[in-house]
Amino acid sequence: MTVSVSPALTRTDSPTTAQATAELYGIDRWGHGFFEVLPSGDLALRNPLNPDAAPLSLPDIVADLQTRGIEAPLLLRVGDYLRAAMQDVNGAFTDAIEKTGYRNTYRGVFPIKVNQQAQVVDRIVEYGREMNFGLEAGSKPELVIALSHRLAPEALIVCNGVKDAEFIQLATLSRKLGFNTVIVLESPKEADTVIEVCKDLDVEPMLGVRVKLTNTVGGKWAKSSGDRSTFGMNTEQLVTVMDKLRDANMLHCLQLQHSHLGSQVPDVNDVRRSVTEACRYFTEMTREGAPLTHLDLGGGLGFDYTGEKRAAENSINYTVAEYATNVVELVGYAMDEAQIAHPVLVTESGRAVAASSSMLIFSVLEATLYDAPSAADPQEGDHHLMTDLAAVAKYLSADRLQECLNDATFYRDEMRALFRRNYIDLRQMARAERMHMWLMTRIRALAAEVEDGSDVDEQLEEMSDIYHCNFSLFQSLPDVWAIDQLHPITPLQMLDQTPDRRAILSDITCDSDGKIDQFILSDRVAGALPVHSLPEDHPYYMGVFFVGAYQETLGDLHNLFGDTNVVTIELLPEGGFDLAHEQEGDTIAEVLSYVEYDPTDCIAAFRRIVDSATSAGRLASSERRDLMRAFRESIAGYTYYE
Ligand SMILES: *Cc1c(COP(=O)(O)O)cnc(C)c1O
Repeated sequence: MTVSVSPALTRTDSPTTAQATAELYGIDRWGHGFFEVLPSGDLALRNPLNPDAAPLSLPDIVADLQTRGIEAPLLLRVGDYLRAAMQDVNGAFTDAIEKTGYRNTYRGVFPIKVNQQAQVVDRIVEYGREMNFGLEAGSKPELVIALSHRLAPEALIVCNGVKDAEFIQLATLSRKLGFNTVIVLESPKEADTVIEVCKDLDVEPMLGVRVKLTNTVGGKWAKSSGDRSTFGMNTEQLVTVMDKLRDANMLHCLQLQHSHLGSQVPDVNDVRRSVTEACRYFTEMTREGAPLTHLDLGGGLGFDYTGEKRAAENSINYTVAEYATNVVELVGYAMDEAQIAHPVLVTESGRAVAASSSMLIFSVLEATLYDAPSAADPQEGDHHLMTDLAAVAKYLSADRLQECLNDATFYRDEMRALFRRNYIDLRQMARAERMHMWLMTRIRALAAEVEDGSDVDEQLEEMSDIYHCNFSLFQSLPDVWAIDQLHPITPLQMLDQTPDRRAILSDITCDSDGKIDQFILSDRVAGALPVHSLPEDHPYYMGVFFVGAYQETLGDLHNLFGDTNVVTIELLPEGGFDLAHEQEGDTIAEVLSYVEYDPTDCIAAFRRIVDSATSAGRLASSERRDLMRAFRESIAGYTYYE
């Protein structure tokens, strides 16, 4: 289905508010070239595969989807971004191989756990066919997913994780269907199972071993790297496994070494050290007679969420090209030194492939504003602290901002203490709070005007507005809640106007943790997001970007908010987009059944309650009809605010 949109407005070179706003949010810094602010103020998608194509306005996409009955909150997947990321990783390795004269090839595999959704995996298989991209399965269900795809003849299926006999049998027999399925042994016990299962099969398995590196890497997952990593074998277990395989006359099946570097490795020098260590195991195992042909370096290639380009938790200090060049050079060098043929290089980059392809879009429902448009009037009999508080306004000036902030807050807090002890009544307290809020509004305005107001500005972030948004953090952004993952967030419209407010975002779960209060801006991570006063004549949408990796299936049903609507689009060369797939979000009936309620029983139970109220004369029959209809419609509807 093709959708045409009005041609994008031409970009101007003159400095406009739109450019200044793009600068404020740091869109060029973290945007990876995917986004652009149009002079109309709309945030637009650019097509990295077709840079000349007109950018596509996100509010237009949202409006278009709405006419088809697909409402926000929604997860928007852009197929082209997935393809671009895959080409980026694959291309970086192919280039590095060519430039350094490495004498073998690269085979990427996508770890299914990073995004198991059929629309994503199907596309990865389709786009990846020309690159011989394969899949990594970490469990039996993921192996089932992998085996239900037609992969390129050269593509690999790498099986990691804990395996039982059934898993091993399925993986081994799949080779008869033409799959290059590698069973990566995680422990000596798994080697026993493989030997046992395979002796009755007339096909040999392709085996790998997962070797635990002792080198630790930095970043969020530092603790799960090195010695204390829960996966992989140490040197002693490795030797045991090789002996077991040799005794069973199966050492010739051992073709792959897997050494997972970690996840979101922030520092390229950690990559270098880990790759060098991995090569040592490879050359040693080869010397012991294992006919290894593949070196699999697992995940770890990071994604620069903040655009800081430094070794920080949500950033990386290298590019995909640098990562690939380092890997290729180091492996080539180590193999040459040991006089071993160059192996096929495999990586299992999940985050770097999937992160950029999805964004979450939701609207702001309402705002709790933290300001007062005018001061409170003094009154006869006011406490002297109230007079002191009001007096701050008299010496408020740009060079005394901090002092005024201190004073106003002190007097307000003292008054709160008096209120608690019954010295001040509710109305006077309300006027004190209003006075304080008004002073803060004025201090904030002055701080925005002066050069060095940033210190005061940051303190005022704690008094920013709360924008209540139609989404669930726990369902759609679990890593933001659980591990302080940062994602860029911006309004999708009005970017031609300077944002006049600061807000944190809260979701619609009844959980005080359901909020976002860390935002990537061009120069820092701020405690509040610049936003616009909510418009009255149209919705105000926000976008959370780069949520394609790990967020979807880790999300939960907190407060019984279910899956959002999901749409996949493909950008068209002449502008506009193809709606490639849509998936309706969960209905209330669906989430009720996930927690073992039967929606039909719920309706029946409610009807009995309604009927007894009707019999008792407490409910008119028209009210009975309205109540039953509202109940039924709720059950059939979206779990989010409609
Ligand atoms: C999670 C995982 C990956 C993916 O790691 P990324 O950092 O997302 O690329 C790859 N391989 C294994 C074995 C994993 O467990």
